[in-house]
Amino acid sequence: MAYGNPCIISIDPIEKLPLNHFLPGERTLSIATAGCNLRCLYCQNWQQSQVRPDQLRNYNLSPAEAVKKAKEQGIRVIAYTYTEPVVFWEYVMDISERARSEGLKNVVATALFMSKEPIREWCKVTDAFAVALKGFSDEFYNKVTGAPLKPVLDAIVTVKGEGIWLELVVLIVPTLNDDLKQIREMCLWIRQNLGTQVPIHFGRFVPEYKLRNLPRTPVSVLEQCRDIALDVGLQFVYLFNVAPHDANHTYCPKCKSTVIRRLGFKLTSNEIQRGVCPKCKTRIPGVWA
Ligand code: SF4
Repeated sequence: MAYGNPCIISIDPIEKLPLNHFLPGERTLSIATAGCNLRCLYCQNWQQSQVRPDQLRNYNLSPAEAVKKAKEQGIRVIAYTYTEPVVFWEYVMDISERARSEGLKNVVATALFMSKEPIREWCKVTDAFAVALKGFSDEFYNKVTGAPLKPVLDAIVTVKGEGIWLELVVLIVPTLNDDLKQIREMCLWIRQNLGTQVPIHFGRFVPEYKLRNLPRTPVSVLEQCRDIALDVGLQFVYLFNVAPHDANHTYCPKCKSTVIRRLGFKLTSNEIQRGVCPKCKTRIPGVWA
């Protein structure tokens, strides 16, 4: 039902996924179909994610047409995002294979509640994953997303093990997953299982869908989360959905100079030269060209 029937086709900055270390400033052709295998109570795209494809008006877009559309617009990256690409995986795979054969890149925004075998297949045609790690307790995952936590952690480790570029986004929801002790545990898990160089984006919750009773996340709480992540040793920690903010930028982990400046999703300058800091020549991890 989803195949070839996207409900969203749009052009976005790659920073919106969020991906800050993968071709900064690039535009993506973003594609989504209706549906999701989770039911997050705060879903921003619930009108598309919590219905079936036959309940929406859709476009007709074959994999060949998707690639052609991107190329016609001069776009080099196709993004599978907005809803959950896991549920339109066959369509994603066919577009991705075709896109790659024609020199385009594929990037994915996903909650990654998926078993290892299809993830490994997916990694063969995907260039970057932005994975939503929605919390760090089974209780939160079950209550707010409808899924258990452990398979998501295993899936994230699988992507990392395949050597695909990976960034994490953690939406901080007031009273539900903003316990700072648990944020520290999450950051320690990231350090131990993924290393210190995986970028992490702490996202601001905006009241939506079934959690309209909660307030927006205070920026001070997001800043505390960021401080904890930096204290644990994670090197690239961003705030998402908060702009302008110093935590929109990328800093060299060694000399601390600002190597990429952003205003929210907008790239304003990129000083990285051949993957290194222009001042101290430290390698900045990512895909830059
Ligand atoms: S995984 Fe994403 S698309 Fe699916 S319900 Fe949760 S927030 Fe919405």
